[in-house]
Amino acid sequence: MKKILVMGGAGYIGSHTVKHLLDNDYEVVVADNLIYGHLNAVDKRASFIHADLLDTISLQRVFQNYKIDAVVHFAAFTYVGESVENPEKYYYNNVVGTVNLLNTMKNYGVKKIVFSSTCATYGEPKYMPLDEKHSQNPINPYGRTKLMIEQIFSDYAKAYDLEYIALRYFNAAGAASDASIGEDHNPETHLIPLVLKAIKGERASIKIFGTDYDTPDGTCIRDYIHVEDLALAHRLALEKLGSYSGCINLGTGVGTSVKEIIKAAEDVSGKKCPVEYAERRAGDPARLFANNSKAKDILGWQPKYNDIKDIVQTAWNWELKKSSWI
Ligand code: UDP
Repeated sequence: MKKILVMGGAGYIGSHTVKHLLDNDYEVVVADNLIYGHLNAVDKRASFIHADLLDTISLQRVFQNYKIDAVVHFAAFTYVGESVENPEKYYYNNVVGTVNLLNTMKNYGVKKIVFSSTCATYGEPKYMPLDEKHSQNPINPYGRTKLMIEQIFSDYAKAYDLEYIALRYFNAAGAASDASIGEDHNPETHLIPLVLKAIKGERASIKIFGTDYDTPDGTCIRDYIHVEDLALAHRLALEKLGSYSGCINLGTGVGTSVKEIIKAAEDVSGKKCPVEYAERRAGDPARLFANNSKAKDILGWQPKYNDIKDIVQTAWNWELKKSSWI
């Protein structure tokens, strides 16, 4: 059985990938510094070790204690606004931390890595849907850290035979279909959980950031991809390493507007969402959705969730359950 190290496996997408790998007969070791991750999101079938990308001794301990075959790396900071205010934190954790991880892997003869990259590496879109050949000019430090990591992978692949796949996510959404785990960021900035919290009465309202975009209803369009479809793609990517290295988009290819998300959440919950109209948020393009042909062709990936209502339903089930989970 293959032993996979999931760095950042206590976070949102990491914990769903851990569960998916275990369900598919992989052995999983989770390493996490638990700054943003939750220990109770880690599947009990996985081994857990406390480690931090900036503490190389803790990284060495992971590879000493476990004979790792491949790494899936989620351990990055992801708040765009914070990355503008505190770039040091982002370049240090995301870039230096990843170099530490790669060098430790190299020292222990581990050559395979799957990485969470992002469509934020493209920057201001020039055409839609976005494919992998689109120019990459990220507009914030967060996006730049992810692009730098992609470039480091490419150099390490040439020099040290690193086998890598960087998955450029669009908008991760939803929760496990059995509602055992889900999205739980602190602070929460993402649209779907904020809409659901407004419906539950945990927030006064949801602010719609801009209603004058050049889209059919004036609100921003994004490509929401179910977290279990992301998890599946990570397993397929792991299984593809050795015959392909490179970067692959992960999105459904379908765009959904902010107003459509609110409508889906109202339909699913049967309750009205209190809404406020607010100014545009800096750096938000009007539309972002993926050309996902490469994921289909190279990974043989097919998203199981294609209807936004089904995605929001899983997030709602999780929101209802979470109060008892915490
Ligand atoms: N959004 C919004 N109100 C919020 C949070 C987000 O209108 O309170 C919008 C945001 O402008 C974007 C979309 O919802 O168009 C998705 O935002 P999110 O932060 O979830 O993901 P992002 O696309 O920024 O990665």
